Amino acid sequence: MSLLVVGSVAYDALESPYGKVERTLGGAATYFSVAASFFTPVNLVAVVGDDFHPQDEKIFSARSIDIEGLERAKGKCFFWAGRYSENLNERVTITTELNVFAAFKPRLPEKYRNSKYVFLANIAPDLQRDVLQQVKGRPKLAAMDTMNYWIERTNADLRETLKHVDILMINDSETRELSNEHNLLRAAKHIFKMGPSALVVKRGEYGALLIDKNGVFCIPAFPLEEPHDPTGAGDSFAGGFMGYIAGAESTSDAALRRAMVYGSVLGSFTVERFGLERLLKLKKSEIHARARHFAKLTQFKL
Ligand code: AMP
Repeated sequence: MSLLVVGSVAYDALESPYGKVERTLGGAATYFSVAASFFTPVNLVAVVGDDFHPQDEKIFSARSIDIEGLERAKGKCFFWAGRYSENLNERVTITTELNVFAAFKPRLPEKYRNSKYVFLANIAPDLQRDVLQQVKGRPKLAAMDTMNYWIERTNADLRETLKHVDILMINDSETRELSNEHNLLRAAKHIFKMGPSALVVKRGEYGALLIDKNGVFCIPAFPLEEPHDPTGAGDSFAGGFMGYIAGAESTSDAALRRAMVYGSVLGSFTVERFGLERLLKLKKSEIHARARHFAKLTQFKL
């Protein structure tokens, strides 16, 4: 079952204690699509400028990622620069240039309009809503991400978009900022009043939480000896999660739990190298082997 995503396709400048890249393909929808494409075909809605490199287009066309919805516009691609602290836990944004995204009006190709699984990756909340409104009927599952940039600048718009999604998938600091609540369980209760019926909290090296009507499900992050660059880990998590659900065509509690594991698996591969490097070399067999490893890591008897 194909999966629709809208979000940023960007060029990133990245700096971590392990190295530096001046300009590499990134963006939330890019990481999401590549991660999800291991499980299901993906339909991508985004915009790029005239500096978008043909070599980068091949990253999508070499996979089951449809780019009929990737608009070309005059101007430059979204550009983001970030730097990580010594322990990789803190990140500062140096630059965010919306460029072609500032005037983007998404128009869904006809064949995307029957999508049953929709992910609104990190981008302006009015664009996320615009895409969701063009989908015919109610999707089986609509999930979204956002970040402090949008929570602070476009809060009213974000709250409007939240009314229309089932799952909100954000990191712990964003959860606290959005809900004004430090405790994540209490934060979830606040967020449920805004619209979503489930919350996935991404907690970096501490793993992830799923909170919904069935209670709480926790998974650790895969222990890595040498993480290099956390950029895109959250989007890869979302891609693994939604890709698994769309591929399995199930939103049962058991499927959601497995999706959390596949999300964590994809996120863990992304941080092993800079930018998209590790995801682009990844094999399906490695994904399944790491998922089995996860099952062993978390198994115990009482
Ligand atoms: P993550 O590390 O999962 O938070 O995602 C990093 C990706 O998000 C980078 O590749 C950036 O290009 C993209 N990004 C950063 N800031 C924004 C923003 N304000 N809106 C949309 N995408 C962004």
